[in-house]
Amino acid sequence: MAKYTGANCKLCRREGCKLFLKGDRCVTGKCAMERRPMVPGQHGEASLRKKSTGYALQLREKQKVKRAYGILEAQFKNYYLEAKRQKGATGEVMLSLLERRLDNVVYRLGFGVSRSQSRQIVNHRHITVNGKIVNLPSYQVKVGDVIAVKPSDVDTALFKDIKGSKIIAPKWLEVDSATLTGKVIANPARDDIDLNISEHLIIELYSR
Ligand code: SF4
Repeated sequence: MAKYTGANCKLCRREGCKLFLKGDRCVTGKCAMERRPMVPGQHGEASLRKKSTGYALQLREKQKVKRAYGILEAQFKNYYLEAKRQKGATGEVMLSLLERRLDNVVYRLGFGVSRSQSRQIVNHRHITVNGKIVNLPSYQVKVGDVIAVKPSDVDTALFKDIKGSKIIAPKWLEVDSATLTGKVIANPARDDIDLNISEHLIIELYSR
């Protein structure tokens, strides 16, 4: 699957907010948003003073969500189209679909330090859903699903720092750090998504 391979911190600086793409580094003083919180490039500082138009705001909001979840344009649009087909507010349904991606759930359960590392963990067949290996990062989890690190991998170097540590999962997930197992106990509600997103702007953009 195609993926963005450029510098992650530039994406945060472009969107003007932390997207938490680099794991532990994002919560330290080394974070580029702490040190240089302006748009990258020679006109970065000037762009901070520029007033954005309606279209630019909508576009930036879409880019922000896309980049936070590490998804490219075509796939992101499919989430919008699927959300439109389902009942409920399209923006909220779209965020719920994104949040229930298996790579995001692995990240939320604390098994990976970032969404991109979590995606790699899924791709490399370290994760099971209801006892079966699933290596599809976009797999949609549902209520009742049990997501776990493959038992034979729990004691490997990749997970040794996480095993037994204190993991704070969102309230729609349950996690047992001793066995590196999690369970989906509800669908994610809008207030479970901690990114500062105005999803109505994305819907307005796609409705043009
Ligand atoms: Fe974004 Fe993390 Fe880089 Fe900070 S360290 S700019 S939050 S990716």
